[in-house]
Amino acid sequence: MSSTVTAPAPVPEKAPHQVGTRPRILTGDRPTGPLHVGHYVGSVKNRIELQDRYECFFIIADVHTLTTRPERAHVRELDANIRAVVIDYLATGIDPERSVIFVQSAIPETYELNTLLAMLTTVARLERVPSLKEMAQAAHLEAMPFGLLGYPVLQAADILLPRANLVPVGKDNESQVEVCRELARRFNRLYGKVFPVPDVLIGDVPTLVGTDGQAKMSKSLDNTIYLGDDAATVERKVRGMYTDPNRIRADIPGRVEGNPVFIYHDAFNPNRAEVDDLKERYRTGTVGDVEVKRKLAAALNDFLEPIREQRAALEANPATVDEILHAGNERMRREARATMELVHDAMGFGFGRG
Ligand code: ATP
Ligand code: MG
Repeated sequence: MSSTVTAPAPVPEKAPHQVGTRPRILTGDRPTGPLHVGHYVGSVKNRIELQDRYECFFIIADVHTLTTRPERAHVRELDANIRAVVIDYLATGIDPERSVIFVQSAIPETYELNTLLAMLTTVARLERVPSLKEMAQAAHLEAMPFGLLGYPVLQAADILLPRANLVPVGKDNESQVEVCRELARRFNRLYGKVFPVPDVLIGDVPTLVGTDGQAKMSKSLDNTIYLGDDAATVERKVRGMYTDPNRIRADIPGRVEGNPVFIYHDAFNPNRAEVDDLKERYRTGTVGDVEVKRKLAAALNDFLEPIREQRAALEANPATVDEILHAGNERMRREARATMELVHDAMGFGFGRG
């Protein structure tokens, strides 16, 4: 059975357990630094487009950063990183009037639901989630922390607290949401129907490769283009991008398929005629890498320029970010309390609660 829907996502009929008039989205990011264009094509773009059709909850998952980076030096960076992520959200078009932006650690019910859900899966199941081993490796961890193994359970608590119907994420996150779907089903089977079983929505580019052409774009791999990079930085990064390694001269026919420069052209250059022309000339060996890259840098800068302007305005107004998070945290806390009431009622659990 497929859990993945392709864009545009169908708006489901109102489910019996659905809370408001619109179905709900939950997704978000770990505040390990500012967002890059991989985050944008994997998840943020879908969020922006679905804000009217879904009631959206966007989580800045600071607790999740502790799974691989619990050291004090990293904890100290969280406040600044949370601000950077909120600014990236607003600058790309996430609208706090329509969507809820909140911080994971501000919702105490997250820890509570996490504990209850942890009883409903097994170590063997979690050990089969491929992305967790990759995360441990990327963080140079010698052994698997208990908390990192439980990453998908904590994420399930995030998704199920607002009783979300849809989770827009990049491909690397799909196996984690699958655990959430299983937990929702298991809970509903054991105790009665409280949770929707959420669908996954993968972005236009399921996994954007990094500028090195080797692995997914990721902060830890230094192969990123950030939404906040200035024009000169984008030009420098694009000039250094990996292309077809067999093409040592401009008059040698090159490979377009799987070539990072063309993957980026497809993702960020809205001028289809220009992209088709470059591909054609690349295949026949009549265009140099320099021109292909110059046009890519120009397209990326056209895409990023309005985001940069918005970012600059928001950075000058830090109080705006505080107000948005304060309101978002309040709103999500109300939702979380309502869900936990349903959870306790369904389970008949919580002797001595008020
Ligand atoms: P990084 O590796 O740069 O630290 P991350 O994967 O740790 O990024 P998360 O906060 O875990 O960042 O992911 C936020 C969202 O962005 C997830 O939905 C994830 O699938 C998506 N995403 C991250 N990197 C990419 C990418 N290169 N291509 C597509 N989607 C991505
Ligand atoms: Mg990730």
